[in-house]
Amino acid sequence: MPLHTGPEKPDERPRSVNPFYGEANPVGGMTEAPPQHRLPDGPLPPATAYQLVHDELMLDGNSRLNLATFVTTWMEPQADVLMAECRDKNMIDKDEYPRTAELERRCVAMLADLWNAPDPSAAVGCSTTGSSEACMLAGMALKRRWAKRNANRYPGARPNLVMGVNVQVCWEKFCTFWEVEARQVPMEGDRFHLDPQAAAELCDENTIGVVGILGSTFDGSYEPIAELCAALDELQERTELDIPVHVDGASGAMVAPFLDEDLLWDFRLPRVASINTSGHKYGLVYPGVGWALWRSAAELPEELVFRVNYLGGDMPTFALNFSRPGAQVVAQYYTFLRLGREGFRAVQQATRDVAMGLADRVERLGDFRLLTRGDQLPVFAFTTATDVTAYDVFDVSRRMRERGWLVPAYAFPANREDLSVLRVVCRNGFSSDLAELFVEDLGRLLPELRRQPHPLTHDTDAATGFHH
Ligand SMILES: *Cc1c(COP(=O)(O)O)cnc(C)c1O
Repeated sequence: MPLHTGPEKPDERPRSVNPFYGEANPVGGMTEAPPQHRLPDGPLPPATAYQLVHDELMLDGNSRLNLATFVTTWMEPQADVLMAECRDKNMIDKDEYPRTAELERRCVAMLADLWNAPDPSAAVGCSTTGSSEACMLAGMALKRRWAKRNANRYPGARPNLVMGVNVQVCWEKFCTFWEVEARQVPMEGDRFHLDPQAAAELCDENTIGVVGILGSTFDGSYEPIAELCAALDELQERTELDIPVHVDGASGAMVAPFLDEDLLWDFRLPRVASINTSGHKYGLVYPGVGWALWRSAAELPEELVFRVNYLGGDMPTFALNFSRPGAQVVAQYYTFLRLGREGFRAVQQATRDVAMGLADRVERLGDFRLLTRGDQLPVFAFTTATDVTAYDVFDVSRRMRERGWLVPAYAFPANREDLSVLRVVCRNGFSSDLAELFVEDLGRLLPELRRQPHPLTHDTDAATGFHH
């Protein structure tokens, strides 16, 4: 959330309101809209209050045309009904809502099986508000394990976490909030994510773990998790340093199990200690749910788990929040039940087909160079070809917005700050029809863009809205 400050414009002059919206007398009892930056003096009738809020929200974007976000923007009506039925259920209140708690437990078990935990009944896990919270929890477990390993050995030592520079911002948050040094492997040439060897070289006795990302937010590519584990195996042979790996599968942990079954990235690799995913990305649930799983209880230090009895019962929990809605967890269980492996495979394959088809079409327009092709995450990044000098990716982003498309443009991090790209995130609900319209709109724009004297848009993230 933005950290909000006070009102941008204090309520000065009274604002008028549609006379229809008043309730009491013939044409409204209310002629002035209520203040927006302080609590109104009195109540409004519910219909009026509803209409005012509803009207203001009409100006929000159309989520189906938003190619920036990874987060689910469409679910079936049955999921809506279930979620509505559960909106009063507090996830933490496991004694009051034992069935909701049971559905959460089953989701964890299903994910442990899906991610090939050697002993799914030994795996431990929990739901969270999203991958960010899941990553905080996983990072805390790594840090605590390191502290226990190193107790008294290196007094005053500062822990570090090794990752690619392309990590999602939640890992920078983790390092800042929990005072861990972030050691980042830069990009190099056409390598836009972590290099296993370079990661191993950054490790030392104070490394709490290495984060591998299954599905980089920058370009949709999978990081080579198996090669990363192999490089760390080799490091261990040489130095006896035994560094665990956490896989940030915010997107990919719900794609690879269905579409890339032979890819080794999960608990089949003994070095993978924990995995997270966002239920609300390719887990196909509306915003508000993520998952964190550990291979076994040995990977999750016991002192981090809390038991509270003041709601009745004594269920162990590991979470940053206390109260949290149960609806998203129920919706996740619904989605698992509804689709099964075959259903998930069909949905994710359809999305990948759209992404790869669209990437292909964009390439054939001639003005662009693809960095990725949508064949890992259904996400691809592209930039302007070297001979394109009249416009840049920021111009494309700005002009596509005029047609309602939200396509973020952003610069890459070290050492490829010179490279700026556009990124398209395909999700369930972004159909091949919509993809067709997208390419047509882009193609129609090019003659105008080519006539520009030079790139015209100021290149800030804020101007084009990069969303991880
Ligand atoms: C989206 C994302 C996150 C953060 O997940 P939220 O569910 O939005 O909190 C973390 N890591 C990666 C790789 C992501 O794509």
